[in-house]
Amino acid sequence: ASTAATIALEGRFARELPELAVPWQAEPAPSPELLALNEPVAAGLGLDAAFLRSAEGVAFLTGAALPDTATPVAQAYSGHQFGGFSPRLGDGRALLLGELRDPAGSTHDLHLKGSGPTPFARAGDGRAVLAPMLREFVVSEGMHALGIPTTRSLAVVATGRVVQREVEFPGAILARTASSHLRVGSFQFAAATGEVELLRRLADHAIDRHYAHAASAEHPYLALFESVVKAQASLVAQWMLVGFVHGVMNTDNVTISGETIDYGPCAFVDAFDHAAVFSSIDGGGRYAYGNQPVITEWNLARFAETLLPLIDDDADRAVERATEALGEYRAHYSEAWVAGMRAKLGLGGSVSDEAVAPLATELLNLLHEHRVDFTAFFRGLAGVARGGVRARGVARPAAFDVAAIGDWAARWLELVPDADAMDRVNPVYIPRNHLVEEALTAATAGDMAPFDALVGVVRRPFEERPGLERYAVGAPEQSEPYTTYC
Ligand code: AMP
Ligand code: MG
Ligand code: MG
Repeated sequence: ASTAATIALEGRFARELPELAVPWQAEPAPSPELLALNEPVAAGLGLDAAFLRSAEGVAFLTGAALPDTATPVAQAYSGHQFGGFSPRLGDGRALLLGELRDPAGSTHDLHLKGSGPTPFARAGDGRAVLAPMLREFVVSEGMHALGIPTTRSLAVVATGRVVQREVEFPGAILARTASSHLRVGSFQFAAATGEVELLRRLADHAIDRHYAHAASAEHPYLALFESVVKAQASLVAQWMLVGFVHGVMNTDNVTISGETIDYGPCAFVDAFDHAAVFSSIDGGGRYAYGNQPVITEWNLARFAETLLPLIDDDADRAVERATEALGEYRAHYSEAWVAGMRAKLGLGGSVSDEAVAPLATELLNLLHEHRVDFTAFFRGLAGVARGGVRARGVARPAAFDVAAIGDWAARWLELVPDADAMDRVNPVYIPRNHLVEEALTAATAGDMAPFDALVGVVRRPFEERPGLERYAVGAPEQSEPYTTYC
């Protein structure tokens, strides 16, 4: 498309679920400036990058110039935040512009964050600060490149408006896509209305968009639940396998699609620690690295509760069926995690799961004990596979002390790991916390070059390239622990 008027934005969510959709308009941006455009995402959507860079394109990306047919809405949802239920959250500073069909026929939500206060804003100002929007852009791009399901960022536009926090910051709008923005919190909102027909319509919408096979299952809503259990088990296993800490796993930040969403105070563990927490608002460590699998299970239990009236008319039978389905979560998680660890350790099919799991657990405990850099260690381990345990061939000497893991490594080497296969799954480059901070600090001061460079690096995570050494190592010694803010 080369004008906003010709972009085919559907309003399917708004039309099918009006009870969850408040028609709303974006707040005008005083002087919009496009700071980051994701050309691969634009191309995938069939949107013309040259158009998106034009004044009209930037107006489209801030919700100011939309096709006449568009029906932007703020979506209603509830959520358990740090364990406590909030019945009315919703898009306080975000809008669903509508759905776009890509040239291959898949549907994507197009959504703005930071587009001004909506009726769900409560005490908030409806705005977003530039740095966290850029963090979402670069981290989601890195996650996608790692093969992990995620929402994608299309663009970040500086609004030209000052946003007041503890101090003043530049404001911005993030345009992002998702296979949908349906969340566990969407179901909690619908369930709380007590209108079973609304809940059914929402569940049918979710099935149609994400799990079409469930429609023809004997128990479609149970099949929906089972599908989400599988998708979320796989997702959190993949986070664990790259050391990702989401930071705010509230039920409003858990998608039905199984995509990572709402990158707030997220971070990657560097010096490995099962209890790693980075978020300034998670003092209790509820969403610590090692808690993520069990928190996902807890969130899925909240999802199951919303579906009970659809699962069976008999309340006891509904609970029984849902409990049984949730009981599969741990097996799905373990299966995904062991498969991922098998790949990270370069082990083939002749090594049993029963051998891989304890070996991987023992290794993680060693990494924890010695606070080894997680990403550099796994990448460097292929060098040990190539050279043997005594080799000096570890790519990054700081990555680990071979002596400390010598006994473990000797047993692992007997299993004949495939180093080339390891290099295909253990990234060299991830959006490391200190590099992200460095890029966001420069961007806030008006220099986008470090951000653009970092995006370019994390888009090819597995391919070691000359000149990028500083992107592959942990932070220089820090006096303060790394802390992230929403
Ligand atoms: P989050 O922590 O970003 O997942 O957001 C939790 C809830 O707070 C959602 O309902 C958001 O829409 C809302 N929210 C966060 N920041 C703001 C803001 N600046 N203005 C209005 N609502 C906000
Ligand atoms: Mg959220
Ligand atoms: Mg949010």
